[in-house]
Amino acid sequence: MTEFKYCYGPVGSWRLGVSLGIDPISRPEKICDFNCVYCQLGDCAPVHPERAVYVQPQALGAELSALKAPADYLTFSGRGEPTLAANLKELLLECGRLRPEKTALITNASMMCSEKIREDLTAFDFVIAKLDAPNNELFRKINRPGPRICFDEIIKGLVPFSKGRRNRLAIQTMLIDRNKAYTRDFAALYTMISPDEVQLNTPLRPCSEKPLSRNEMASACLIIGAELERLGKGGIKVINVYGEKAPEVSPVSAPDTLKRRGKT
Ligand code: SF4
Repeated sequence: MTEFKYCYGPVGSWRLGVSLGIDPISRPEKICDFNCVYCQLGDCAPVHPERAVYVQPQALGAELSALKAPADYLTFSGRGEPTLAANLKELLLECGRLRPEKTALITNASMMCSEKIREDLTAFDFVIAKLDAPNNELFRKINRPGPRICFDEIIKGLVPFSKGRRNRLAIQTMLIDRNKAYTRDFAALYTMISPDEVQLNTPLRPCSEKPLSRNEMASACLIIGAELERLGKGGIKVINVYGEKAPEVSPVSAPDTLKRRGKT
């Protein structure tokens, strides 16, 4: 098998090591209920937050069996929001049946207010959830979600997920000019959610948003770390994209990897 439709990479990820991507949506167009200003997958209207089946577990299984490349994580991400796949749990079971690696899922957290989705996510070893804004106004400007998605509901979903979890949770924040002044507000939200880790990113791949400098990111890291300490949450690890090294890896299929590297 030389063409891979549902798997991509593996890629060297600064937060997951060697990551073999699984795309549970795998459509040519982006299927996401956000349209973030920095999105690598292009600018298109957010879809309604309704789940559907896009990929059959057997079809994913056939690719996973053909792909011999080892990885640290099988990472659910790709061309859109992976929790929009209604059969996420079945796809994950298929991964577990065929491969020994740990599993991760990268989500925009838009639907974590749903108990069913939170339950699906408990089956992953590592969940990385997006939080790019400290309030609804900035949320609408940066993530540009569909009208049915509400900032408060996202926080209301993240807090109980974190409280009840047995798996690892990271909150990832894309820092850009528009939200960089809000480090203390972010720290207050991280305190409320209480993840294992905070991952501070900035758009280093080509897009219309300017990335923050190494110094700006280091300073954001320091302020957030100190604020978490002050708030009694000094145990939350804070990392940033400039401070971590991604392993060098040769992808099995370079074009497939490149067209999906918006999120991994
Ligand atoms: S960056 Fe992720 S969450 Fe934002 S629009 Fe693109 S795919 Fe969706």
